[in-house]
Amino acid sequence: MHPVVAKLFSLQKIDQKVALAQKKLDSIPKETQERQKKLSKLQEELTRLKDRSTEIEVQVASLETKVGAIETGIKKQEAYLNQASSPSEYEAARHQIRYLQRDREELQNEQLALMEEQEQLAPKITELEAAVAEEKATFDAFLKEADKLKVELEAKKQEVADERRAKAAEIPAEYLARYEEIFVSREGSAVVPAERSYCSGCFTKLTPNDWAMLANGTNKVLVTCRTCGRFLYDPESETGGEAGSAS
Ligand SMILES: [Zn+2]
Repeated sequence: MHPVVAKLFSLQKIDQKVALAQKKLDSIPKETQERQKKLSKLQEELTRLKDRSTEIEVQVASLETKVGAIETGIKKQEAYLNQASSPSEYEAARHQIRYLQRDREELQNEQLALMEEQEQLAPKITELEAAVAEEKATFDAFLKEADKLKVELEAKKQEVADERRAKAAEIPAEYLARYEEIFVSREGSAVVPAERSYCSGCFTKLTPNDWAMLANGTNKVLVTCRTCGRFLYDPESETGGEAGSAS
């Protein structure tokens, strides 16, 4: 491997580690937002069901009061019925009782429907409460993990900063600048092997001359891909060297 390429290769190893950690770090805010959204949705649904349950309780109690009032009315009419002094009075009271009984039945049916709804609501609420608790625990664990990752990454960056600076200082500025540009634009792949005379970065075939220079093992000429600009090396002619010891 050409000595400059070898140095760039070991620099790339450092940069790839940092880039990977940075990528993880960058994904945290989005993931936090998504997890928060999921939790909020569950919480909102739970609130909605609980509100409905409370509403039903109030409605049932109100119907109970109404039914009670109707029953008082029925008793009153029954008293009239017993004290009726004429068939028409008797008939009138009987009519009233029938009307009131019909009203009572309607209200009781309404009550029954509400109580059935309440019965179906209860297990859903229990289930949702468990789901919210679980999601909340997962979310809290994620936040804790994310904080830990942030600290770890900062420490890692700090740790490799000196090593990277030392390595970078050994590389001619022109090559270093080109490497850094390609590393960013090609997402972490600036130094790649030429596999069977093809650039493994963009799969362009090398010119016979470039391939000969790479493969002859003299490493006198620094070869880059004419299509993507990546720095190339021949993995077959590698016998350890700087690239091997950099891992
Ligand atoms: Zn290429």
